[in-house]
Amino acid sequence: MQFKELGLDKRLVERMDHQGFQGATEIQQQAIPVVIAGKDLLASSKTGSGKTLAYLLPAMQRVIKQKAFSKRDPRVVVLAPTRELAKQVYGQLRGLTAGSNLKGVLILGGEDFNLQSKALAKDPQFVIATPGRLADHLEHGHLELKGLEMLILDEADRMLDLGFSKQLTAIHKAADHRRRQTLMFSATMDNAVVNEFGADLLSAPARVRIDAE
Ligand code: ADP
Ligand code: MG
Repeated sequence: MQFKELGLDKRLVERMDHQGFQGATEIQQQAIPVVIAGKDLLASSKTGSGKTLAYLLPAMQRVIKQKAFSKRDPRVVVLAPTRELAKQVYGQLRGLTAGSNLKGVLILGGEDFNLQSKALAKDPQFVIATPGRLADHLEHGHLELKGLEMLILDEADRMLDLGFSKQLTAIHKAADHRRRQTLMFSATMDNAVVNEFGADLLSAPARVRIDAE
């Protein structure tokens, strides 16, 4: 299936054509329309199946198409369990925002806290982060999440395994309002911890599960 059949904005479809992608992967085909429809989502599919664009494309779409209700707060936060994974997500985001007036920042543990605080003060629309460091910035008042429209937990199962539930809850609470959409991606759907955590964060989520052949 082609990206243009998924309800994506023409500009985003063109970006995918430029990257030379022939069509959307299975998880992208199933997740993108659900997210565009505004639903919360709990999704699983194997590594390498294209989950990053399954959430970044509809997140971009929301930012492009809908007027922000806060000019200062980030509109989309993506949390990933490790520095390496967050960097990869940021790389894919850069591919989508290049040449536009949209900004993203990468907030990783182990890097200069003050520099990150300055980057957050420039009001980026997208924040890609590891949970511990983002929770630190929240505690220090370096960002607010009252205007957050999409909270995305990538590899939620691994973040919970790594003991980030307290930080994830703090981030969720700071961004807790009616307009927020929440997406959770996980390696498996039968993970009890993920399901229990999802029940707190997600509101009547759609479930998309692509099993490995
Ligand atoms: P996952 O998070 O499911 O492990 P990624 O989002 O990291 O997978 O994607 C894996 C690779 O597949 C990346 O290099 C990405 O650029 C590529 N990719 C994503 N979507 C497509 C697509 N529709 N067609 C071809 N390649 C894709
Ligand atoms: Mg991934």
